[in-house]
Amino acid sequence: MTAIHSRSTPEGFAERTLTNLYQVVTARKSDPDRAHEVTQLANSLLGLIIFPFSEGQFGSEPAPKAAESESVAAWSDADKPVWQVTTNNCTCGQQSTNKTKKNTWKAGTIRCMVYHVRNAAAHGRLKFSGNERELAEVWLCAEDGANKEPFVANWTASIRCDQLLGFCKELAKLVPPTSQ
Ligand SMILES: [Zn+2]
Repeated sequence: MTAIHSRSTPEGFAERTLTNLYQVVTARKSDPDRAHEVTQLANSLLGLIIFPFSEGQFGSEPAPKAAESESVAAWSDADKPVWQVTTNNCTCGQQSTNKTKKNTWKAGTIRCMVYHVRNAAAHGRLKFSGNERELAEVWLCAEDGANKEPFVANWTASIRCDQLLGFCKELAKLVPPTSQ
């Protein structure tokens, strides 16, 4: 068995999440009734995005910092998969009198994108385009907004699920290898 990071680290948990996802992809190919890869990818957002970019035990310190200095435009220019943003009125980086405001990173950074995807996933504001079985045939739409009741989206975006997997893998590269 190949050595991997501890399950209790963001890297180790993400590695296991991807391994399980690939198992589901393989399992569906041999028996379509027994595995659902689009669903597994949506479930995997916990290990691939929510945990590494949280402040809890699984939170990565370097990844969110690195994401602040990466721009969505630069990723797109480099043909790295990114979400296609359709509503772009977020307040990331704007001056606020509220000193506890945490989203001080600039709008249009990868940190901004991950923040809104994280919120969408954590609050169930995700929608699939349909019930197709292949990752490359389904789009995932996400929405986020500061106004909760009534909810008003100030950031909406969509991505094809195979590209979402690529986006998550690019995010994982922001975590430098440890000496473990
Ligand atoms: Zn933002």
